Amino acid sequence: MRLLIILFTCLQISFSQEVNYTILISFDGFRWDYLNRGITPNLDKLKANGVSAESLVPVFPTKTFPNHYTMVTGLYPDNHGIILNEFRDIKTNEIYRIWDTNQVTNPKWYKGETIWEIAKKQNIISASYFWPGSELKDITRQPNYFEKYEHTRPYERRVEGVLNWLQLPIERRPKIITMYFDATDSKGHRYGPNSKEVNDAISKLDSIVGSLVEGLEKLNLLSKTNLIITADHGMTEVSKNRIEKIYNLVDKDVMLEWSEAFLFVWPKSDKVDEVYSLLKSKESHFTTFKRDEIFMKYNFGKNEFIPPIVLVADLGWILAAKEPTEKELERFLIGNHGFKNNEKDMHGIFVASGPSFKKNFQTKILRTIDIFSVLCKISNLNPPKNIDSDIKKIEHILIEN
Ligand SMILES: [Zn+2]
Repeated sequence: MRLLIILFTCLQISFSQEVNYTILISFDGFRWDYLNRGITPNLDKLKANGVSAESLVPVFPTKTFPNHYTMVTGLYPDNHGIILNEFRDIKTNEIYRIWDTNQVTNPKWYKGETIWEIAKKQNIISASYFWPGSELKDITRQPNYFEKYEHTRPYERRVEGVLNWLQLPIERRPKIITMYFDATDSKGHRYGPNSKEVNDAISKLDSIVGSLVEGLEKLNLLSKTNLIITADHGMTEVSKNRIEKIYNLVDKDVMLEWSEAFLFVWPKSDKVDEVYSLLKSKESHFTTFKRDEIFMKYNFGKNEFIPPIVLVADLGWILAAKEPTEKELERFLIGNHGFKNNEKDMHGIFVASGPSFKKNFQTKILRTIDIFSVLCKISNLNPPKNIDSDIKKIEHILIEN
């Protein structure tokens, strides 16, 4: 009898250690309603076999790097450090920019623990085929396998790369994989969210889902793989005719940074209240926030690199820190994001399918911040304490154990 109990306990342990594969895929700027355009047969199939949310609310600011790094740390940008795609260390004046490889791979900017680091510590192998924060120059913080970002690398090759990892001998095979594709963002910026070009990008990404599913099926891994398909933010139309010239509203000694859907305002330290009142009185197509006010609304404002005043544009408006040059106006993008995260146009998609997820299950709006908790849960990883991600807000999409 005792032997039987021991045997049973061993079996239970080996079952509980049987971790499924998880592939987290980000389609940059894939707005929530792109799934309703009738051009996504492969994603529709996943929806029917799994879970789909009405939409996914990103963290503020609704920009690429802050949101991607939130997905893999379960922290708000205030806490994980990547507060924008471009920001300044106010102590050293160094600037983090997403196209500056030296900065993007510099561990100093990145706080928190990523899913790759946590997996490594808990003896689960992970891999990343492109993801913000996956290429840090610190081996303890890297996934076991990763590819260096190459914007033009063909999408089919990325799928092939992931399928190759999944054919490694079991003891070297990754269980958690992240993948990234830019098409809907690039085309959305250039041609706007309602363009034919964006629809072509949607179809292309949908066919990538098809190729991946087919590849997993051939490897007999589909039934053991959780696929999570998501987006960092949505997209909305902007216009050269909707630029708010903030540089005309304040004195020259007030530093303005980042002409975007938001603007950083650095008044002299004794002028904060004065500049705040002035901007408040001139508000049109934007809202003026002090740090604690914007924190209360958007969990953004405690980070040391955020200025005393932040302006956020109304949907579809851009705030200018300086007079745009002719060249800048020529290159003006007609689609953009970065706006308040409660604007529905800023919401992305969430579709998930696999052994851990309910079948044919629709849910209301999910939050990007909670994706991390799901990643940990379905991979049997203990998440770090003091994260912002909340499993209770998302566990209803999982099959109960
Ligand atoms: Zn993006």
